[in-house]
Amino acid sequence: MALRLPGLDRLRDRYDVVIIGGGPAAFSAAIYARRFGMVTAVVADRIGGMLNEAGVVDDYLGLPDTPASKMVKLFYSHAKKYGVDVILDTVTRFRREGDHYVVETRRRRRTLARALIVAIGTRRRRLGVPGEDRFVGRGVSYCAVCDAPLYRGAEAVAVVGGGDSALEAALILSEYAKKVYLIHRRSEFRAQPYYIKQVRERPNVELVLNSVVVEIRGDDRVRSVVVRDVRSGELREIPVRGVFVEIGFEPFREWAVENGLEVDEEGFIKVNEWMETNLPGVFAAGDCTTMWKGFRQIVTAAAMGAVAAYSAYNYVVKVFGSTLEQR
Ligand code: NAP
Repeated sequence: MALRLPGLDRLRDRYDVVIIGGGPAAFSAAIYARRFGMVTAVVADRIGGMLNEAGVVDDYLGLPDTPASKMVKLFYSHAKKYGVDVILDTVTRFRREGDHYVVETRRRRRTLARALIVAIGTRRRRLGVPGEDRFVGRGVSYCAVCDAPLYRGAEAVAVVGGGDSALEAALILSEYAKKVYLIHRRSEFRAQPYYIKQVRERPNVELVLNSVVVEIRGDDRVRSVVVRDVRSGELREIPVRGVFVEIGFEPFREWAVENGLEVDEEGFIKVNEWMETNLPGVFAAGDCTTMWKGFRQIVTAAAMGAVAAYSAYNYVVKVFGSTLEQR
């Protein structure tokens, strides 16, 4: 669930840097940008981004066993301490005008930025099978952390996928449902061994390997999932009350391309090691970029954000001589 945080600001007429997005990459960039003396805004449709959908974080240095919701609050209050303007809105487009970027939002706000940091994250990938769209919110879910409590005492639920998200979801759901079917299209998991070991030790998690979901069935809500064994072709209908689709994320390709950003074949924004994009003064950070694809962590997002802020600062000083605050 997205946090509702008070104290959101008005957009000023002009910024050194506008950061688009509200996840760990964006907030890390914001803190560094302020430390470099840049007048900074974060514009995001939700504070915390995809971190809102994580459970307990136990792999971020110095913060063991920390609920993700607490981390989101810590990131936000850290940025506020540094005087970052945080605006809840969606940037629809930006375009170059002279040596600035004009930034426009869904709520018809407009501001000028000397530099931009794009940290827009990704969205959840869908299965694309019959029944998926029909039962969204009625048994089909994309967020185990948000919806697992709805399945307390349920006879069975299914999780689809073989990465960190799917195995984490299976572990969370095994605390609520009597049985969890973990359906994966291969026999090997891509998830970290840490998760694989725990899943294998959970007595109420049944692995359904080498299997793909071909249909989600139900009446007013989900009643079963139909899977096909990819080796034998055999079909099996498994009665479940919920199907959690955890098969990864995809980038906002259209948004990036419409705003003139160069993307790779999957739609991730191309960056170099200094988080520079193809556009002058536009940097990118976090899951939306081509950097470290396949290893998306809070710490890697935060690292990219810090580097993007450093690069944005060097750019602002080179082009404008000083930051707005230093004038
Ligand atoms: P992911 O690593 O891309 O894994 C997606 C999984 O879904 C893969 O096992 C893939 O199968 C399967 N899949 C993809 N498309 C499918 C389809 N159409 N039908 C059936 N299965 C499909 O995605 P993720 O698990 O969401 O993780 C995303 C990133 O976030 C990763 O970098 C991950 O490390 C990170 N993450 C980290 C943590 C953590 O560290 N605590 C927690 C969650 C996520 P194949 O294996 O056959 O390709």
